[in-house]
Amino acid sequence: MTTELEVGLYIFMLAGFLGYHIITRVPPLLHTPLMSATNAIAAISLVGSLVVAGSDYSNVPNGWVCTLLGFAAVTCSATNAFGGFLITDRMLRMFKTAEERARGTRRPVELQAFGGVLALVCVVAAILYATKPDGMAMGEYLHEHVAPDALRYCYIISAAMFVLGLKGLSSPKFARRGMALAALGMFIAIVGTLFHPHIVTYRWIGLGLLIGAVVGGGMGLRIPMTAVPQRTALSHSLGALAACLVGISEYFRYQGALSRVTLTALDFEVVIGALTFTGSLIAAAKLQELLPGRPITYRGQNIFSMGLLALIAGSAIYLVFSQAATPFFYLMVLLSFVFGLLLVIPIGAADMPVVIALLNSYGGLADAAMGFVLMNKIQIITGSLDGTSGFLLSLLMCRAMNRSAFNVLFGAFGTVSEEDAAAAAEAKGTVRSITPEETAVLFETSREIIVVPGYGMAVAQAQHAVAELAKILRERGVEVKFAIHPVAGRMPGHMNVLLAEANVPYEYLHEMEAVNPAFPQADIVLVVGANDVTNPAAKNNKSSPLYGMPILEVDRAKSIIVLKRSMRPGFAGVDNDLYYNEKCMMLFGDAKDSITKLITEMKSLL
Ligand code: NAP
Repeated sequence: MTTELEVGLYIFMLAGFLGYHIITRVPPLLHTPLMSATNAIAAISLVGSLVVAGSDYSNVPNGWVCTLLGFAAVTCSATNAFGGFLITDRMLRMFKTAEERARGTRRPVELQAFGGVLALVCVVAAILYATKPDGMAMGEYLHEHVAPDALRYCYIISAAMFVLGLKGLSSPKFARRGMALAALGMFIAIVGTLFHPHIVTYRWIGLGLLIGAVVGGGMGLRIPMTAVPQRTALSHSLGALAACLVGISEYFRYQGALSRVTLTALDFEVVIGALTFTGSLIAAAKLQELLPGRPITYRGQNIFSMGLLALIAGSAIYLVFSQAATPFFYLMVLLSFVFGLLLVIPIGAADMPVVIALLNSYGGLADAAMGFVLMNKIQIITGSLDGTSGFLLSLLMCRAMNRSAFNVLFGAFGTVSEEDAAAAAEAKGTVRSITPEETAVLFETSREIIVVPGYGMAVAQAQHAVAELAKILRERGVEVKFAIHPVAGRMPGHMNVLLAEANVPYEYLHEMEAVNPAFPQADIVLVVGANDVTNPAAKNNKSSPLYGMPILEVDRAKSIIVLKRSMRPGFAGVDNDLYYNEKCMMLFGDAKDSITKLITEMKSLL
């Protein structure tokens, strides 16, 4: 084993442990920003892409292919970097306390970041000017004498900034500042790489960065918060494609004549990159409803997929031992693209957040593998951080759903047939319904109300109406809490982001463990489009698919009002015993319409 490989492996492991410790401290409140933050940091694949796009291929037959692949990789990674940091910042800007909202905007992070960059540029320029030998041109001094060492220091500083940036996500108070630091880290890494001694032309780099800035910036600024899961998936696909393209370019350049260690890393890079690319595209298409959300399965599917995987692994091993240019490489890449499609197609849309977190982790591994191919330590570090974060988030989600990762990936969960839905709708007891007028009267006499938001609130886009209702109740002296289940909605932290968007201060949001003891004192629990996360069968019914999943114990409140359109089940496809509880009343209809009517009634009662 070469020393450099040994060092790389140590760095990979240590960054993984560090990532684990930092990411376990990120509260569920910030899990969605965490997803897009690690995604933005994973755009460090840009560093490798810049070198590939700007290198000299004059002695490589058809070297333009490498330049073209590098240009495409720069475009993909730059889109990721611009879009990822912008949308994370947009999200984090929404998380404010009541006091901060009353005070107006927080201290502008943008100004601080700009000041930081300016100060840094001035200090660097002063050092360069002071150390330049007399009579030597600045360009020559920079390229020949400064660049190689400076680059190493730039990468060390960037790595530290990424770690500190993720650390900032352990509290909403420091999260924006942390992300500004991470963005500065990315800026330093990119600017440093532009002085890389292998870069001889900036034409394709400039064009790729420009396209990435326009596309990524547009996506980051315009995409609605409800579309964050599909944007994250799309972003993973671009990052993974960049890693795959850089790997193909390196193979093409050296025609397979690379060391066995490098070839092993390169195989990993292109295989994981290719399958993450197509897998993420399918995930994004399912979430955007461009593809049917139900699991698409076919006979012999697992055997076919396993056969394909065996073929890919066989080709990879053969390539490492043959160490020569062979069409097997391109076949392996093609099969990996197909494998990514087959991996995600049988998974239901509702399970996509777990899949996206896993693909995030794969994307990180592809980045780290690229780091091993190019022996670039910053890519190894960020790839490892990204890989750990995605893996940990997917495990947390599985645990909160009381399901195994195997069940998510191969269980074809979420196939609610029409018959099942109809059966679920069959009355199992008496269901009491209530009107907005009656609800308003009940609210008038309540002192303590807990709101339980769920996926239906996102579907109805009812978060602003819910926030207004809570504000009115508070103004009337009612204590209002929001109870947040870790997997309410369809992505980790989904409800937190929506409520933050609707200006609900984050100290009003309470996590499941903290709020469960408060339910018996609540006069009313208002369930807004939540279903599975309130189902008592998870506690009482051993035969239920939900059995064992921790739930919000709303059945312990004095009375419960559920806002949903029908008796249809939620994501797990099981009937909810809560609706037959004599304390429970159903306010049927679209959640936003129902709350709007409720607010009108409450105002008329004044
Ligand atoms: P849920 O169990 O899926 O139930 C959502 C309910 O919202 C449905 O019963 C639906 O009933 C109602 N609804 C839909 N549109 C509505 C509208 N316009 N107005 C009013 N109600 C509406 O949601 P949940 O309680 O939030 O639970 C989340 C589920 O997703 C859990 O099973 C969890 O395991 C799973 N999951 C979550 C994540 C995550 O990261 N958050 C990831 C993967 C899976 P009607 O059709 O009758 O209106």
